[in-house]
Amino acid sequence: MAFAILVTQHEKGKLIAPVLQEIGIRVVENSSWDTDQLGTFAGEVERRLTPHECALEKAKQAIKLTGLGIGLGSEGSFGGGPLPGVINWNEEILCFYQPEHERVIYARASGAFPGKSFVLEQISDLEHVEELSNQGLHWIVKINDEILKGLNLAMLTEALTIADQHGLLTWPIKVEPDLRAMYCPPRQQMIKKAAEDLARRLQALCPECSEPNFVVKHQEKGLPCELCSLPTQLPSHEVLHCEACEHTEKLGVAATSADSQHCQWCNP
Ligand SMILES: [Zn+2]
Ligand SMILES: [Zn+2]
Repeated sequence: MAFAILVTQHEKGKLIAPVLQEIGIRVVENSSWDTDQLGTFAGEVERRLTPHECALEKAKQAIKLTGLGIGLGSEGSFGGGPLPGVINWNEEILCFYQPEHERVIYARASGAFPGKSFVLEQISDLEHVEELSNQGLHWIVKINDEILKGLNLAMLTEALTIADQHGLLTWPIKVEPDLRAMYCPPRQQMIKKAAEDLARRLQALCPECSEPNFVVKHQEKGLPCELCSLPTQLPSHEVLHCEACEHTEKLGVAATSADSQHCQWCNP
């Protein structure tokens, strides 16, 4: 069985390990390197690298620390998505780094994120935080320049009540979700999905050179219109590509023609 090392201080190992165990990779968690130096969600440390660069850097550090052959780096980001400002979006990247084979594979998963911030005018406004708390979200609140993190609803209520009684609060108070993985069940689900994507990529071998990650890398547009047969903007093919040997295969999509509403000619 191959060993892979995951550097994390946020208990991500138990999310990723069971998935990779099934394809013969044993994930070992190591918390001795401070991943927060690459940036934190709460903003104490600014992020200078892209999420992909961050994930690769963590995977490289994992190998440096342990000398094992495979490093894993997990990095999450928030924002963007199909409807920015309307739907909160979470993307999780899991980088697989194996220097012996010069192998870098980025797996990913993304989706809507239910967490959001609240502005409380008074203690009783905590009732608005209840629904998301019941989904397991934890909270961050700033009281007198002190940032309290990882609070469940009971802890948040107690902290605000005591601070209010001592006149330490200036309403309104902003309460934000704690996005660190061990305090954020929706992220935990997304990290599991990224691990599943990695397992899929590791098992998808190139028919020419047997390198993993022979999966759909992009789509080609041009599905013909059902009425006039001219190409539309809808995808006609999915393209599988191997970065190691450049082997490429095209797969036709399930549909053979596009609804004429997508046609520039029939429905301009
Ligand atoms: Zn290949
Ligand atoms: Zn047409």
